[in-house]
Amino acid sequence: MDIELSIVIPTYNEEENVELCYQEIKAALKSLGSNYEMIFVDDGSTDLTFKKLSDLSKNDEKLKVVKLRKNFGQSAALRAGLDYATGKTVITMDADLQNDPRDIPKFLEKLKKEDLDVVCGWRFDRKDPLSKKLFSKFANRLRKRFTGETIHDSGCTLRAYVKESTEDLELYGELHRYIPAMLSWKGYRIGEIKTNHRERKYGKTKYNWKRIIKGFLDLLVVTFWQKYSMRPIHIFGSMGIILILFGGIVSIYLVILRLLYETGIDRPLFTVSVMSLVIGIQFFTIGILADILIKIYYGQNGRKNYLVERIIG
Ligand code: UDP
Ligand code: MG
Repeated sequence: MDIELSIVIPTYNEEENVELCYQEIKAALKSLGSNYEMIFVDDGSTDLTFKKLSDLSKNDEKLKVVKLRKNFGQSAALRAGLDYATGKTVITMDADLQNDPRDIPKFLEKLKKEDLDVVCGWRFDRKDPLSKKLFSKFANRLRKRFTGETIHDSGCTLRAYVKESTEDLELYGELHRYIPAMLSWKGYRIGEIKTNHRERKYGKTKYNWKRIIKGFLDLLVVTFWQKYSMRPIHIFGSMGIILILFGGIVSIYLVILRLLYETGIDRPLFTVSVMSLVIGIQFFTIGILADILIKIYYGQNGRKNYLVERIIG
């Protein structure tokens, strides 16, 4: 029988949470009666997470565990889970019980009823420390400004997807935060729904200042990528052309002056113009190189940014 629904859960050092999370999801899906699979991606945990999951999977063929070789990060773990998901619809969520699996049916209903490709959660009443909430507010504002995509809460990982929409989505670093933006750029229909949020009772958050900085850099990359990915020559190239024109015209002018009137040449100006000519040519070539790189990049198949050690179930 075809699998209708896949639940994908990136998991890193959540030994106190995984069993409860598994039970809660199972209970929430009971009423749906659909044929589902649960995929926990163990993102290189160093605690008992993998053992607990593999014990649980012995008694439940619906539970699959994809064990990664090391900690590749939340985005890569999510990518791994999506790659192994076989359902027509995919739910993603965290393993730390902050998302409420009882909300899953609401997500599925909205996805179907409104004929959307993605339904994102909005934690309107977030149960996180104030500092984190404030920072998120700022980050969400920045994201809306940069990407032009306007859902409220791009940090909420509880989402429902039509499987197809996740298929060629590049995910590494902190890019999971920009999935809605990347999908809306591709023309997928995105909706959002208010969702319950709970405090983290067990285990520690893996969120830290390094990830905040990475998140910001990834926002720049993703926006740059969207605007110039197909034609990086447009940004490097146009800077190059301006410099080449400026450098070329000024140096020719100075040389002509010197030849015609045998005046002394304005050395500083001549140096600047020759330099901008040379730098301009370099910028232009970088643009072309970037263009070639992108062709090679897209030419490759099956690039993966994670390594799987074992699969159970
Ligand atoms: N996670 C992961 N790999 C990592 C860090 C986190 O798979 O390198 C998982 C983590 O186990 C949890 C989810 O990603 O299921 C969200 O992490 P966390 O709760 O620490 O983030 P927060 O909710 O505090 O933003
Ligand atoms: Mg959390």
